[in-house]
Order: sequence, then C-alpha cells, then structure tokens
Amino acid sequence: MSTTIKKEMQFSAHNYNPLPVVLVKGEGALLWDEKGREYIDMMSAYSAVSHGHRHPKIVKALETQLARLAIVSRSYHTDVLAEFLQYACELFEYDKALPMNTGAEAVETALKLVRKWGYQVKKVPEGKAEIIACRNNFHGRTIAIVGMSTEPQYREGFGPFPAGFNVIPYGDIEALEKAITPNTVAFIVEPIQGEAGIMVPPIGYLKECATLCQRHNVLLIADEIQTGLGRTGQRLACDHEGVHPDVLVLGKALGGGVLPVSMVLANDAIMSVLTPGDHGSTFGGYALAAAVGLAALQSLEEEQLSERAVVLGERLMKGLKTISHPAIKEIRGKGLMIGIEIDPAIIDGHALALKFLQHGILTKETHQVVIRLAPPLVISEDLIDKALEAIKTVFAEISQYA
Ligand SMILES: *Cc1c(COP(=O)(O)O)cnc(C)c1O
Repeated sequence: MSTTIKKEMQFSAHNYNPLPVVLVKGEGALLWDEKGREYIDMMSAYSAVSHGHRHPKIVKALETQLARLAIVSRSYHTDVLAEFLQYACELFEYDKALPMNTGAEAVETALKLVRKWGYQVKKVPEGKAEIIACRNNFHGRTIAIVGMSTEPQYREGFGPFPAGFNVIPYGDIEALEKAITPNTVAFIVEPIQGEAGIMVPPIGYLKECATLCQRHNVLLIADEIQTGLGRTGQRLACDHEGVHPDVLVLGKALGGGVLPVSMVLANDAIMSVLTPGDHGSTFGGYALAAAVGLAALQSLEEEQLSERAVVLGERLMKGLKTISHPAIKEIRGKGLMIGIEIDPAIIDGHALALKFLQHGILTKETHQVVIRLAPPLVISEDLIDKALEAIKTVFAEISQYA
C-alpha cells in the first residue's frame, strides 16, 4: 500500500472508503496518480467537476478575484456577489438567490425557508409544518437531512431527528396526493435520484408533482445539486418537463470544480419571509466563491455544456448498450448521468470499481449494485470512446458465471 494511503488511513476519520489511488493532478476529464498514470474521470466528484478539472476560465476568475479580495463576510457588500446573484436569478428566472457553500447547507436553507413561509404565508399553526420527502432520497448529511433519509446507515446512531418530515415512495404521484395535508408546506424531490442509483422517475412525474403542489399550495423544492447545470442534457433536469420549481437548490457544479458554492433560488413571495438575522453563513457568497460561481454559470452557457451532455450522453449510452453481459441488469440515465446496474451475484460494485480503476477508468459504485458514469461535460468524443473500450475490456474479463 502506498505510504500516502497509509498516512491518510492513519490520520483521517474512516467515514470514507476510497479506492486505492492517490491523485496528484487533473486537467479536463483526465486525472493522474502519483506514479504518473493517467485516468479518465467518469465520476466528476459526483458532478462537482462538470466543467472538468481546472477549467481555464474558472481558474482565471478565481485567480483574478484572489488578487483583489477573498472574504469579507455578508456584513458588507461586494461587487462580485451582486453580479453572481443577478446572473443566477436571470438565468434561472427567479427574483432572489441565497448563497451558501455546500449542498447540505443549501438544502437546510431551503427547509428553513419553506417552514417559515408555511407559518407566515400559508398560516400553518405554529410547530405543525410538514415537509414531504421521497424514499431513497439523498439531500446531504446534516441531522435534519438524514432525518429525512430512509437509508439505515445514514441514520443509525445519529438520532433523535427533528419532527415534521414525511416520506413517500419516489415516482409515485398518488402517494404524494395522499400525503399532502393542510399543514404540508413543501415537497422536496430530486428530478433523478443520484445516490439512490441513478433512479429516473416515470415521464411526466415532475410535471404532475408541480401541478399537485400548486393545487394544494405546497411548495415544490427541486434539489438539483447533482442533476443541475447541464448534467442531464438540460440546464436543469426540471427543464425536461417544463417545470419551474418554487424553490431551486443548486450546488456541486456551481463551484466550477474549484470551490464549494451552493445556492437557493425562489421568488419574492417566498424569499421575503427571511429578514436580517434569520439565517446566514460566514462564508456564504464570499467574493472568491461568487467569482467562481459566476464563471461556472457563464461557462455552462458559453460552452453549451447541456448540449454536450445530450450528444456525448447518447454516444456513451449507445456504446454501453452494445455490451451484452449477464452481470449487467440495466443501463439507465439521462445526458451524462448514467448508471449501470449490475447483478451482485456475478460481481459486486466495489470489485467492479476496482477493475475499472485498473483499466484507467475512475468511477464509484453506489449501493453496491450501481456503477455511475458521469464524466465532466467537457469530455471529448475520443475520451468517451476510450472509456467505452476500457469498460468493454473490463466486462470481457468478468467471468460470465457467479
Ligand atoms: C451531493 C448532494 C447533496 C449534498 O451536497 P454536499 O455538498 O455534499 O453537502 C444534496 N443533494 C443532492 C441531490 C446531492 O447529490
């Protein structure tokens, strides 16, 4: 085992189980380890690196801002935060945005926002606000958020959890209708469930959710932290169904692959329930993050990353579908957010991720049975083809029988 890995294992809390590779350099869709070996990044840090590693425009924005001003806190104004928020609001068509850092913080922000809206605007009795979430959701790791989770490992040992959350099956519109009560303030949903294993809901589901929520004066919160910013072939995954959520949560790729940047967007009728002192974050919207977030959104548009995700996603999907192997149960996804569900009786996910690593492909399993393929959206056709060749080789090496 490499000495670096040994050291990290010694001094890091063991809340992760990384693959045995030490990465030292990245560029675009490529990564290199400490021995100089090259890998194709088919993981993109769970979509945080949709723009590719060290995207030139984003690195330049970071460096330029770093030479002027980095952090002043929200006790003051900065020129760059105003620009970032205006750009985001106009791009996604919302009145206001609230900047945070990590995805979990933005989700927490959204939960606080809809509760306060529920009491102030919807007039839900004090302490009675209910929020509906979906089974197998992933919205982050804070106590309130894992309180919404149905994954035993995310919850066990971390209770008690806040009350007021209700969980229903994903993709089931009737379950949503049944779960709504007069005290329901919001429904939080991922347009495609990423961590659950790239679960794509039935066509029309989001649209029906939006209609149902509107009819019952329930806010629709779309957690697009992973699906947003071009990943699925549209600027937002909600755009596939023409849905404009009441509350939009962005993160991951919003940081352009260089910093944690997240935000919550909503119209004045909702966002105006927050007044100075209600909520905040020392780092939320700091100047460096604002410069990077702005550059990330501009690159998304200028380089038509959503369109790239459509074309390259089709190429990858088409290539994958030519692989016939009993270990492959299903290949699903949208754009460049693809999952291969495997038969654990033939090979388990972690073993497969290790095999991919040996063949120069970086990916990771989720829930043991799904391998995710979600490269940076800037990846070239050649690298997609190279990755496909490696994937074919890996499957050819796996014995057809358990
Ligand atoms: C990654 C993710 C989060 C949490 O983001 P962090 O930055 O890890 O806190 C929340 N929701 C979804 C859908 C995610 O994929």
